[in-house]
Amino acid sequence: MEYVKAKTILSKVKNGEEWYGVNYNMNLYRGCCHGCIYCDSRSACYHIENFDTIKIKENALIILERELIKTRKKGVIGIGSMSDTYNPLERKYQITRGALKLINKYNFGVSIDTKSDLITRDIDILKEINEKKDVIVKFTITTTNDDLSKKIEPNVCGSSKRLKAIKKLSENGIFVGIMLNPILPFITDTEENIKEIVKLAHENGAKFIHTYMGMTLRENQKDYYLEALDKEFKGLKQQYIKRYGTRYNCIVPNAKSLYQIFKRECDKYGILYEMKDIIQAYKKKQVQTEQMQLF
Ligand code: SF4
Repeated sequence: MEYVKAKTILSKVKNGEEWYGVNYNMNLYRGCCHGCIYCDSRSACYHIENFDTIKIKENALIILERELIKTRKKGVIGIGSMSDTYNPLERKYQITRGALKLINKYNFGVSIDTKSDLITRDIDILKEINEKKDVIVKFTITTTNDDLSKKIEPNVCGSSKRLKAIKKLSENGIFVGIMLNPILPFITDTEENIKEIVKLAHENGAKFIHTYMGMTLRENQKDYYLEALDKEFKGLKQQYIKRYGTRYNCIVPNAKSLYQIFKRECDKYGILYEMKDIIQAYKKKQVQTEQMQLF
């Protein structure tokens, strides 16, 4: 297990209100070992060496507590945008659990991105935060097929376990939903997959699904992805090169019709999918507090 030095943990998010209403961001670990073949955090622009080896940020909780004390403006802290904070080391070292206790102590809200059902271990603290502040949990689910998920997200629990975790969080009153992102061209961009994800989201208590009809590919990430395609999906690498060339935004060929199907299915089950509606729904506590302060 490796440590990396960190001067700061918390950073303020510019225009955060536009992305899940997050005001601050933090990553307690550097790198991620979940091995998702499409991972954007592997891109050269982030300069993370040995991305697949997780490093713990040294003194992360001491630094975080100092920063939380100094931060006057309360808000929602996003965790896990660059590295899944519920990685195998978290089971033993409990850095994320420690951070949640601090978030609770200093009265901030929290927004967590994960693919791991380990998050259910921390339901007790999430419930405590949720009594006072805003909490949102976002599970990435790209397919409902566990065998396919093992190929594209090899080192983390499959989609069926993630759905069970969603159910558990939802039953405990946590606002939880799905990031259906990325949608991989020629792999997960089928009508059946989209319909099944929305149906299972509904059955397991997800309140929202946010999607992007494609994926991004940039330096480093692209090489890694194309190599993985070559191993697991014969012939697809050439198809990608032919269709997308050096493009950054790789939108699925049937994006328009697929999005209409996605919206129709979400409407059928009453699942939110517009960002502004998702933010409004989970930030009710903040709105109520502001109204009371005005009063
Ligand atoms: S869980 Fe997230 S950060 Fe980790 S490899 Fe997968 S996409 Fe990358």
